[in-house]
Amino acid sequence: MLAVNNLEVVYDDVVLVLRGVSLQVPEGQVVGLLGANGAGKTTLLRAVSGLLDIHHGAVTRGQVTLDGDRIDHLDPQQIVARGISQVLEGRRVFGEFSVEENLRVGAHTRPKDRAANLERVYDLFPRLLERRAQAAGYLSGGEQQMLAMGRALMSNPRYLLLDEPSLGLAPQLVATIRDLITLINSQGTTVLLVEQNASMALSVAGHGYVMETGKVVMDKPAAELLDDDDIKEFYLGLG
Ligand code: ATP
Repeated sequence: MLAVNNLEVVYDDVVLVLRGVSLQVPEGQVVGLLGANGAGKTTLLRAVSGLLDIHHGAVTRGQVTLDGDRIDHLDPQQIVARGISQVLEGRRVFGEFSVEENLRVGAHTRPKDRAANLERVYDLFPRLLERRAQAAGYLSGGEQQMLAMGRALMSNPRYLLLDEPSLGLAPQLVATIRDLITLINSQGTTVLLVEQNASMALSVAGHGYVMETGKVVMDKPAAELLDDDDIKEFYLGLG
């Protein structure tokens, strides 16, 4: 299990952004993390995947553990090697490189399994196979999201962290990405899904957390969150 315990994160030694966050991602599940802009969701993912340093952030209290071992002092490569792979917000594919070259980059921790992982990714995303020789910069937003997810899957992770995969996508594509998350999860990958699109996240997650200004304010099964009046009003626009 991946667990975050009472985590405090500070940027530039002064800006306190996570104020004692705890959450758990049990193996095999999809866990949703909701919250408005600036709540600290991306910061939490950075803390899990070892990316705080490059953003001048640091853990000042609490810990991140994987199967009980602390991982919050490891660097990003070591964390990928432990089986945790993140898809950054905004996709960030290498636009001048081909689709397949982008995927190969994701395989650097597991060069031996590259062919098998590439086959799995092309099975999941046939669109990427069709476009394998094309420059990634020419893909649509939805295809770039698939490529970013495919690249993260090239290390065959146990845990996949997704940062707002639905951002900027048309509703039909959001549904496609949601179905792909379900499929990836059914093949054995545990998912932590950060989303501002609450209805999307709660339609795929079994459990959900809601963050506000650096704290978890709700922690419930997704079905209960969907039924919560505050969630309906503030996150689902049904108020
Ligand atoms: P978003 O949906 O906009 O990504 P978020 O919930 O993911 O929101 P974060 O990106 O984690 O939130 O940001 C939380 C707070 O930390 C914000 O106030 C943001 O301005 C601040 N912050 C993020 N990165 C840095 C940084 N490198 N240095 C200083 N402050 C930062």
